[in-house]
Amino acid sequence: MPITTFNPPVRTLMGPGPSDVHPRVLSALARPTIGHLDPSFGQMMEEVKSLLQYAFQTDNQLTLPVSAPGSAGMETCFANLLEAGDTVIVCQNGVFGGRMKENVERCGATAIMVEDDWGQAVDPQKVEDALKAHPEASILAFVHAETSTGALSDAKTLCALAHQYDCLSIVDAVTSLAGSELRVDDWAIDAIYSGTQKCLSCVPGLSPVSFSERAQERIKQRKERVQSWFLDLNLVMGYWSRDGGRSYHHTAPVNSLYALHESLLMLKEEGLNNAWARHQQQHGALKAGLEAMGINFIAPEGSRLPQLNTVIIPTGIDEAVVRKRLLYDYDLEIGAGLGTLAGKVWRIGLMGNSANATNVMLCLASLESVLDAMGADIKTGVALNAAQKATFG
Ligand code: PLP
Repeated sequence: MPITTFNPPVRTLMGPGPSDVHPRVLSALARPTIGHLDPSFGQMMEEVKSLLQYAFQTDNQLTLPVSAPGSAGMETCFANLLEAGDTVIVCQNGVFGGRMKENVERCGATAIMVEDDWGQAVDPQKVEDALKAHPEASILAFVHAETSTGALSDAKTLCALAHQYDCLSIVDAVTSLAGSELRVDDWAIDAIYSGTQKCLSCVPGLSPVSFSERAQERIKQRKERVQSWFLDLNLVMGYWSRDGGRSYHHTAPVNSLYALHESLLMLKEEGLNNAWARHQQQHGALKAGLEAMGINFIAPEGSRLPQLNTVIIPTGIDEAVVRKRLLYDYDLEIGAGLGTLAGKVWRIGLMGNSANATNVMLCLASLESVLDAMGADIKTGVALNAAQKATFG
């Protein structure tokens, strides 16, 4: 087969990310590439920082997108704030808490694990017990929105506990940013990272991060250099700060940053509160439809993510066949389970631009028709009405 231009199929993305990218963002990507040290690019970098401050609800000066995906934002937080010999309380209630543990250990630090069942939110009581039992701990790390299970944890309470026990907090907001209430300054979060491919509905490959004054102080007081050259914030800041004279550090992904600028601008135009409310409303419609069919969630009501709906696969159904038929027959992507939930759940995303009524109806109608054709024990003919009623009464 001769290799020709790659033309991807047009899909509706309702998995755990990436989400549907808005045409405005796609057209921003196609604008002419300019030099990354061009003065007009520098002006755009300033605007990206300020728009990110809005998205994170923070005045933190050290707020910028790392030129790599969410995992690099995670490593940026751990590599800059940890030194060998430190102790970190790491909460795990899904896949990504486990990745935090890896990061801690690779920094030569010790991870004290606080475990909760997958699907449950992080239990603040268990966290307080661990903080009490480990006065040597200097950091509390947890995932705000656990994408592998669909559980939302109480970041405000957890960060307050961290400060009460003299710890800094590292918060994973890869899936929560722009989809669920998140207030970096009000909740006194010290270090936070996210990803562009989820509720920001931008292309994958960038990781917004933000660091409080306290966190910056900790970085300044390090005894050893940050072991990662690329992620060392002291060097990255020289590039991203106007005061640093924009000294060359690496070549920024110029066009991806145009896209991020546009998606953040769209968020600002919509308004953060409206974006959070839209995710909640579409989740309400999807939930009503799924439950009417007889499909249930694994996370309990009250700690469920609107943007990531993790639901139990009907008995006797080959889940991979369902996903394949949705993809090939309806151009619809939903996600499989991860880790211990693989084969047991589907993860249905309603992230950013994907959180709309058309997607909800497409998902319910196509899932129902595929499941019915496969002989699943579901109620048919009721899901769309239930979703419609949940939205419009
Ligand atoms: N943390 C969470 C909660 C995530 O959902 C993900 C990705 O899905 C990551 C971290 C890693 O992000 P990336 O895949 O962009 O490296």
